[in-house]
Amino acid sequence: VAVRLVGSELAATLRARSAEVAAELAAGGTPPPKLAVVVATEDESSHAYVRSIARAAHKVGLACDIVDLGAGASTPEIQKTLTALGDDDDVHGTIVQTPLPPGVAAQDVVTSIDPAKDVDGANPSSLGRLATGLPAFAPATAEAVIALLDHHEIELAGKDVVVVGRSTVVGVPVAHLLLARDASVTVCHSRTADLAAHTRQADIVIVAAGRPELVTGDHIAARTVVVDVGTNPTDDGGLVGDVAAAQVGAIAGALTPVPGGVGPVTTALLLWHTVDAARAR
Ligand code: NAD
Repeated sequence: VAVRLVGSELAATLRARSAEVAAELAAGGTPPPKLAVVVATEDESSHAYVRSIARAAHKVGLACDIVDLGAGASTPEIQKTLTALGDDDDVHGTIVQTPLPPGVAAQDVVTSIDPAKDVDGANPSSLGRLATGLPAFAPATAEAVIALLDHHEIELAGKDVVVVGRSTVVGVPVAHLLLARDASVTVCHSRTADLAAHTRQADIVIVAAGRPELVTGDHIAARTVVVDVGTNPTDDGGLVGDVAAAQVGAIAGALTPVPGGVGPVTTALLLWHTVDAARAR
């Protein structure tokens, strides 16, 4: 049976580190690190997620402003808000929550996030810097995958890693982070001809496809390490991953649970990035 690669322990360590540095900054007389979350939707699950980020921020001594522009916000309005947050010295981190209003494309607004405050690596300049080995904030989810593997002492150098998914939020940045750690990386996607042929050869499989239980026992060889990034809501209000957990868990060497794997580490890293940005300032 697969080892469960839980995220709670690492998330707690990251939160403690954030709280410690935030307290140090406060002792030095500076205002608390502040995260600003821009929301432009009426989607209730997005609002619930944003509230959970704010609660998590407050718990570690960070300030968190929810900037709710409403579901009718336009592209220029969101751009202007992000530019103003970039100019606001009290704000250290800025994220834009999706979904955005109909007609607003994420790529048209994320370029207005100040790269120094781009704590979820959404501005293409951050991904470009990441790809070229320059310091930048990686998308928190992508970094959470690597941090979780490190925490559980899973070696990356020289390993064959298959990433399932090529989004700029998860798949592509995680591939760059893996290359920087000397893994050999294959990126699969919706047009991959034979997914199982790739994943069965891998030492490590990272799945970020947004397809419930896409990866089954047939995709996985014995002892493979499997990271399930997927978070797909179920009809009864629960969450399932992109990996058929019972089947894969019986074969794989290790597997992240959903929920309780990558998710908690992602939120903790978002807060840590904000503290780090405040400290750098
Ligand atoms: P996305 O929809 O932007 O991208 C999905 C990718 O999967 C695409 O590149 C697509 O080519 C690939 N794909 C789709 N179907 C496939 C198939 N049948 N075979 C192979 N590849 C296929 O999604 P995303 O934003 O990258 O998110 C992926 C998943 O991760 C979602 O379930 C999302 O909810 C979850 N997620 C979790 C966290 C977290 O903190 N845990 C954060 C972000 C996203």
